[in-house]
Amino acid sequence: MITSQKLHETLKENFGFEKFRINQEQVINAILSGQDTLAIMPTGGGKSICFQLPALLFPGITIVISPLIALMKDQVDSLKANGIQACYINSSQTDAEQQSHIQNLINNKVKLVYVAPESLSYLENVFSQITLSLIAIDEAHCISSWGHDFRPAYTNLGYLKKRFPSTPILALTATADKATRKDISKQLNLKEPKSFISSFDRKNLSLEVRPALDRVKQIVDFISAKPRESGIVYCLSRKTTEELAEKLQKAGINAKAYHAGLDSTVRSKTQDDFINDDCQVVCATIAFGMGIDKSNVRWVIHYNLPKNIEGYYQEIGRAGRDGLPSETILFESYGDVIQLQKFASQGLNAEVQLAKLERMKQYADALSCRRKILLSYFGELVTENCGNCDICKNPPAFFDGTIIAQKALSAIMRLKELEPLPVIVDFLRGSKNAYIFEKEYQNLKTYAVGADISWYDWNQYIIQLINQGYCEIAFHQQNKIRLTTLAREVLFEGDKVQLTTVQKNTVEKTDTKEL
Ligand code: ADP
Ligand code: ZN
Repeated sequence: MITSQKLHETLKENFGFEKFRINQEQVINAILSGQDTLAIMPTGGGKSICFQLPALLFPGITIVISPLIALMKDQVDSLKANGIQACYINSSQTDAEQQSHIQNLINNKVKLVYVAPESLSYLENVFSQITLSLIAIDEAHCISSWGHDFRPAYTNLGYLKKRFPSTPILALTATADKATRKDISKQLNLKEPKSFISSFDRKNLSLEVRPALDRVKQIVDFISAKPRESGIVYCLSRKTTEELAEKLQKAGINAKAYHAGLDSTVRSKTQDDFINDDCQVVCATIAFGMGIDKSNVRWVIHYNLPKNIEGYYQEIGRAGRDGLPSETILFESYGDVIQLQKFASQGLNAEVQLAKLERMKQYADALSCRRKILLSYFGELVTENCGNCDICKNPPAFFDGTIIAQKALSAIMRLKELEPLPVIVDFLRGSKNAYIFEKEYQNLKTYAVGADISWYDWNQYIIQLINQGYCEIAFHQQNKIRLTTLAREVLFEGDKVQLTTVQKNTVEKTDTKEL
């Protein structure tokens, strides 16, 4: 039996941490007592320690099965930096490299070996020559076709329990839904596994989304009201981090920029200053935060919309690690959405990335408790509204927006679904700009039918119509707004549309050029 004190010493000596995070110690105890274990923790919850620490205490070798070849090197490097002997074996290596690692395994020179499931067969001949103390299966949801990331290579892992019946297996995942959980245990043949499920809920973080009008001023006002509280402003681009830091400095705020393009000495200085409270605000790309353990970050602001909810959740999670109330604000701008959509559609795995962005956008546009949406994304169902998000604190009031919707949708139709949002708004408002005249839009029906509603309000109403599925943005075609079948029901069958009032002066005017 290993005492809690011994576990804490091992944690401190080898990883430099003072305390265990939620469930880490319990998971470690279960494994050390030889039990099969299922650990469900949110991303960033600290899953790695759950197998890295026991690996140090066991006499033999710990195998870590991980699908992410790209991350293996990082993990192994950071273990080595902590003085822990580890290696990885995957298909990216030469035969000679693999042989040398295998030799080290046989000579008991490493404590942990990372293997991709496809590469497990390389170890077949070695198994008889080593003591296997623990099998850790990271991203264990990949074994289940119920999960969001099924990988065929994982399905073979079920044989491990049969082959090594007395070696404990630790399955780890951030996917919490029940069906997947059960399926993981079943497929891996776990023996009466002990499950540890960490909640994804961080009640101490308030959630707020604001339209991105005059973001810089809003941020300056926010920070100036709390001069002793430190926080992070996440920005999409390196350039924005620098520009924003400069603007904040001009407003008398102790702010610095941080991104991967900066010199490493500059970066580590900024990081140290932030941790030591010598720098109040860091304007950073998402490169900032990994591995930074500062418990008193009081707020996190997203200057731009994050690419997906996983990233957003991880970034806001850097606030309030001490459990004290902390604030998070997300600025939503139409321009950001368009830009992110462009990135996503040009990048790898475009379809999935676009779908994830869509979920992010739905979260930002939510008209019901945001925490519910966030938690349900991670498979945690809650029935109560949280009371600590902007929607709970200030529920939107709906009104019958059918006439407004009819005007907007018919404008889109008159413009033959050929124009982007700003032109539609100009058209509705009867704007006399050059483009309208050039196209002779002033002669079409519906021109100027919405002159009584402001530019900002129109913008917001149409975005609401997009979010409710009445029209859509054709991203591959200059962001032209098109109608959906739902629109026809509003235009021709008298379907009613609910809209919410727009908060005055808080909506960004989107410049056509920005799009
Ligand atoms: P996950 O795999 O669950 O996403 P990681 O194992 O990568 O999470 O851990 C996330 C971060 O938290 C890492 O930077 C890690 O060093 C840090 N961490 C893990 N456990 C602790 C702890 N007990 N105290 C402080 N930091 C920790
Ligand atoms: Zn709420």
